[in-house]
Amino acid sequence: MITPVLPSYARTNLAFERGEGPYLFTATGERYLDMGGGIAVNALGHAHPVLVAALKAQAEKLWHTSNLYHIPNQQRLAERLVAASFADTAFFCNSGAEALECAIKMSRIYHYANGNPERYRLITQEGAFHGRTLATISAGGNEKHLKGFGPQVDGFDHVPFGDIAAIKAAIGPQTAGVLLEPIRGEGGIRVLPIAFLKELRALCDEQGVLLVLDEVQCGMGRTGKLWAYEWAGITPDIMAIAKAIGGGFPLGVCLATENAAKGMTAGTHGSTFGGNPLACAVGNAVLDVVLADGFLDQVLKRANRLKQQLAMLRDRHPGVIEEIHGEGLMIGIKCRITNTDLVAALIDEKMLSVGAGDNQVRLLPPLNIEDAQISAAIVALDAACAKLSAKL
Ligand SMILES: *Cc1c(COP(=O)(O)O)cnc(C)c1O
Repeated sequence: MITPVLPSYARTNLAFERGEGPYLFTATGERYLDMGGGIAVNALGHAHPVLVAALKAQAEKLWHTSNLYHIPNQQRLAERLVAASFADTAFFCNSGAEALECAIKMSRIYHYANGNPERYRLITQEGAFHGRTLATISAGGNEKHLKGFGPQVDGFDHVPFGDIAAIKAAIGPQTAGVLLEPIRGEGGIRVLPIAFLKELRALCDEQGVLLVLDEVQCGMGRTGKLWAYEWAGITPDIMAIAKAIGGGFPLGVCLATENAAKGMTAGTHGSTFGGNPLACAVGNAVLDVVLADGFLDQVLKRANRLKQQLAMLRDRHPGVIEEIHGEGLMIGIKCRITNTDLVAALIDEKMLSVGAGDNQVRLLPPLNIEDAQISAAIVALDAACAKLSAKL
């Protein structure tokens, strides 16, 4: 018999009642160190006082009005995101996939507005993840996500990961742009080299196509810079963000330059809930913390500490850990054993992590994780790896 909740997830047999900083507590009071952060969402941990206060204060004033009216704190959040990024304008929605949908539509209508409606195709990378809507599963091209949901949405051309020559060869008269994650997430953590991103930016300019980045997972301070593209010294034309930007409140944004957004005039796109007063109150509070002086420097320091200790762990457990991938606090432990076995062994050590493609286990801890908690994560990993090594 089907369960009341649609059985579309393979869930771990765990439930939590309460969270505090990087910890989650079960109803019986068992404490888990949350190094998965709700899949890179709880960027400031659980129940951060600044976020809780912002949510409570807004909850007592106004939740929702629809986008039929001006929403002052949506306006403010847009101004702040624009000031802190490459963008001139922001569209608000409720999730990563919706932010990507906006990015895809914007790419198409940009060329339509320029008199080139034949340019509707986006080049994407094999192994990418852009969400679970019809368009975004077609963009991702993952057979497991597509199976049974045909016909695919037309307009996506897939090329191998990190292959600039393949992108060059794939650009044709119907190409609208190139869409990719600067750091791959769900498919297994892989960082696109700075040189690749620089070449890609130049290639897009030369060919008159848009560079569309998906920073849903790697953006919002995760790498120690606010946006991952900053490491390469480039800027995109359009960028989708979500996950961490609401700190746990559903919020997605599509950012764009004035030029790239030229086709998105009144009536072209919309969302009932997108950017409602409650979501934007929290989004502004997240920015208050992340944009505070020194916050991102601390992320880098913590990330370096974690990375150093992970390298030592890899040397100690070569039968379990093959390689450490990632940038900042977006880390993929490539396993020699089955990744789900490491996730399970970590749960035995009261630590949460997230599986990923490429047989990886991801660590996506809160950006404000403390040194003692990093050490605790290493102790848990060491114990889990030792137990798994003993079984080899
Ligand atoms: C999670 C994710 C998405 C989809 O976000 P949802 O909020 O689940 O729709 C898209 N792109 C990337 C890179 C992601 O990590």
